[in-house]
Amino acid sequence: MKFADLHLHTFFSDGTFTPEELAGHGARLGFAALALTDHDSVEGCARMAAACAAAGIEFIVGAELTAEHADTEVHILGYFLDPENRTLLEKIAGFQAVRQNRIREMVAALNQVGVPLQVESVFALANCQSPGRPHVARALVKEKLIGNLDEAFEKYLKKGRPAWVPKTKMSALEGVGLIHQAGGLAVMAHPGLNRTDEIIPDLVDAGLDGIECFHTKHSTAMSERYLEIADKFHLLVTGGSDCHGFSKGKPLIGGVKLPYEHVEKMKDAAGRKTVESLNR
Ligand code: AMP
Ligand code: FE
Ligand code: FE
Ligand code: ZN
Repeated sequence: MKFADLHLHTFFSDGTFTPEELAGHGARLGFAALALTDHDSVEGCARMAAACAAAGIEFIVGAELTAEHADTEVHILGYFLDPENRTLLEKIAGFQAVRQNRIREMVAALNQVGVPLQVESVFALANCQSPGRPHVARALVKEKLIGNLDEAFEKYLKKGRPAWVPKTKMSALEGVGLIHQAGGLAVMAHPGLNRTDEIIPDLVDAGLDGIECFHTKHSTAMSERYLEIADKFHLLVTGGSDCHGFSKGKPLIGGVKLPYEHVEKMKDAAGRKTVESLNR
């Protein structure tokens, strides 16, 4: 049997692994295919493609867009994207700027409550275009301003705490369109985590291609539920570990193994999409 992990993060967003380390783990675990899905970024895809090629693993270009619909946060995974698509890169750059400004606001709020974190130490640690709360948490730990990552979220960073800053997000419908115009497939990420079931029909109307049925945080019952939903709406089935390296405890890669037949179906669908868009 061949397997894939289609949900992985590197240090190009809030993971801790380099693309080379991630490909190394993929090879050790015997994966046939891997997709990189950093938050609002395709920055790491070139290196990941090279690392996977060296390891004899098929690589799928991806990204995880932070979006919202009807006041619900929803993450939209894009697969088989053209990583040089101009519109995609422009839009992503805009949301990366939003993320960077949000880091400045979070640090200012921390300073307000007497925590002497410097914004430079967060940016130096993050060292990527797409920083987020986990980088602030790690900087707090590194500067010995808090004991551990969980405490950082509990005390300062989670919603309702002093350094929580809302994030301007793209609309989910815009996200689906953005992925499509870049030649990709749009997939709803970890539906069991965000309580996003009510918005599935709207996204399907907007052209959603698939749904992430298998995820580290999905119970067997949840996966079965989303397999039924995929069947009902004629959606592709995807899955992945959502491994962030060591940024959320232990690395999760290897915990979810998507049977490769689903990748075949995605490739068929992505190929059809490209042909459709060429005929337009
Ligand atoms: P952001 O997109 O900047 O709001 O950050 C969201 C990221 O923070 C996601 O990857 C979450 O999984 C992560 N996160 C949220 N709560 C915690 C926590 N208590 N410990 C570690 N990571 C967390
Ligand atoms: Fe993340
Ligand atoms: Fe996510
Ligand atoms: Zn993710």
